[in-house]
Amino acid sequence: MQLSNFIRWFACAVLATPTLFAGEGKWTPQQVLQLDPLMLRKQGLELPVSRLWDPKRGSGLLAATVNIGGCSGGFVSSAGLILTNHHCLFGVVQEHSRPDRDLITNGFVARALEEELPGKTTRVTVPRKFTDVTAEVTAAAPAGASDLERSKVIDAKQKSLVAACESVAGSRCRVAVFDGGLQYVLIESLELSDVRLVYAPPRAIGEFGGEVDNWMWPRHTGDFAMARAYKDGKPYAPEFYFPIARNGVKPGDFVMVLGYPGRTVRSLTASEMAYQRDFYYALREQLYGEWIRALEDSTKDNASASITVAATLKSLSNVYKNAQGQLAGLARGRIIEKQQAHEQAVSAWAATRPAFSKGLEAKRDLDARASARRETATRDFLLQAISNGSLALKHATQIVRLAAEREKADADRETDYMEREIPRLRLRMDRDQKSLFPPADQAMFAAWIARALKLGAGERIEAVDRVFGSGEALKTLTYLYQSTKVTNLAERLQMFDESLAQLRARKDPLLGFAFLLEPELRAFQAADKTHDGAVARLRPEWRRAVIAHAGKPVASDANSTLRVSFAHVKGYMPRDGVTYLPQTTLAGMLEKHTGIEPFELPRAILEAAKSADAAKVPLNFLADADTTGGNSGSPTVNGRGEMVGLNFDRVWENVANDFGYNPDVARNISVDIRFLLWLLKDVEKADNLVRELQPAAR
Ligand code: ASP
Repeated sequence: MQLSNFIRWFACAVLATPTLFAGEGKWTPQQVLQLDPLMLRKQGLELPVSRLWDPKRGSGLLAATVNIGGCSGGFVSSAGLILTNHHCLFGVVQEHSRPDRDLITNGFVARALEEELPGKTTRVTVPRKFTDVTAEVTAAAPAGASDLERSKVIDAKQKSLVAACESVAGSRCRVAVFDGGLQYVLIESLELSDVRLVYAPPRAIGEFGGEVDNWMWPRHTGDFAMARAYKDGKPYAPEFYFPIARNGVKPGDFVMVLGYPGRTVRSLTASEMAYQRDFYYALREQLYGEWIRALEDSTKDNASASITVAATLKSLSNVYKNAQGQLAGLARGRIIEKQQAHEQAVSAWAATRPAFSKGLEAKRDLDARASARRETATRDFLLQAISNGSLALKHATQIVRLAAEREKADADRETDYMEREIPRLRLRMDRDQKSLFPPADQAMFAAWIARALKLGAGERIEAVDRVFGSGEALKTLTYLYQSTKVTNLAERLQMFDESLAQLRARKDPLLGFAFLLEPELRAFQAADKTHDGAVARLRPEWRRAVIAHAGKPVASDANSTLRVSFAHVKGYMPRDGVTYLPQTTLAGMLEKHTGIEPFELPRAILEAAKSADAAKVPLNFLADADTTGGNSGSPTVNGRGEMVGLNFDRVWENVANDFGYNPDVARNISVDIRFLLWLLKDVEKADNLVRELQPAAR
């Protein structure tokens, strides 16, 4: 369907479907404009839709929602102050923590601009413009192109669109793919690279309940933090920011969650979903569990090493528990079985409509690919996992790859190694040193090798067999860590600039392993590209059938682009006979305080909370917004566009909503803005920040 037809049809479909916006759907700014304004008003939106987004100006309240290091955040002052989650800025807090100045434990408040702390690699992007480039991108692939060729030309086209877009100074652009290639959108954003930490609560508040409460309800976590974006050395003045709601929320209230949801997989076929379950989440749960144990065991009773691995441990634990939640939710909700039944209905419908015969063929092909990929899936998973595990291994492979890519013209390089990426790659390699504790890193590497050595005959990693296959893997690994210079920051940064020949001449054993691994990594990535090319050919055909069969708008999967979800504050029934209320208060936090981590509140909170009024301060609340990872830090706003909270999590029963939305349990968790105000006023005495957060006009 042409985009204009799609939009017309979309608007009609919306008018005809009054309950459409109950929760489900992560809508793009462009889609919101096509929705029936009366319907949105009925839901609770009090602003004209054009206040949310004006495509001509590339601005609106939605532009106050920023992407901050893969999380979401919102401007809350005219001087570039950004509110996001504590867990989103945890890396910056760690960057500035030492045993004698432990900001992780004690928190941090900048009482003046000069005290704010720079985040080395933190960047903020502010959306400016969305342009549909579907016709241009799809036209780039010649008819009859092989899948690998298709993937390459699409890639090249995207690069040239991005390069043209970034010729405007300060612009950061990307081409986002919707529905596997049904639509391509060029997104232009303003990038701000000077971002400084302004406020982080003590970890005992920002992460109250730790991994025990993560992904759970009832919840009492103060998952807030603040940063400030600077431009040309001065606080950035955004065109829009969210005023703070005066009245907070109550059950039944309309809210919107605005942010950058990362990745969902609802458009996959049931067989593809099963592949994800078996080889992505199941293996993740196993390997990440081993990595977590490796980090914990090797840093036990070592305060400084614990700080060093804190951010890694936190993010691994989050992903690990997420994987468990996905697996449990898939089984409990019978999501894959439901997808299968849905596909059968679509297939039966399409079978009598010749216009969709290609869609049916495409689906069969996608399924066949999913089963063929199983043959090397465990190896593929391990090769992919290199980017999340041992830093030494990751750095060694990146250094070798960078040197190889540098020999090519910029436009021919892999996207991650183009000139525009090199400064940030270098910064990350630099900053990673703060997270590198070699004994822990080595233990993670060992867990990876142990799994690689157990691979089946058809999917061996030859480099691992050659270097570690002699039966003395651990000894060899210890030798590697003792002799390599990759773990030394100054040496590593020098390697970063060296050619292949210079790197080879170093005879560094870890680099040697990376050189051996390089052709296997390349072959795996080429296979992946071929797969992407096939998906770009097949998925749109199948999705066309699915969407036409639905006869109503189907929001596409999350892809880290700006989305809005419309919702209401409400509780749910997690299981038979149990009802959860949608709000918690400081009283519940005090009740959970045992004095033992992760339920150990700082004395200042206990003191400030003594009054009866304080106990009533609202803390967390639930809504039925459609969110996922990446929505962390999303402004939760009321119908007037005023901030009432910040999204930070989902409930356990809803983790698998990445595969399918279930209105009975689809609940996101926000931290109430009234708790932040109480914290800043009564605990931190941070008058400067309280003054800066503007209450909404009455
Ligand atoms: N807590 C989540 C995250 O880590 C947010 C979510 O997935 O709902 O990204």
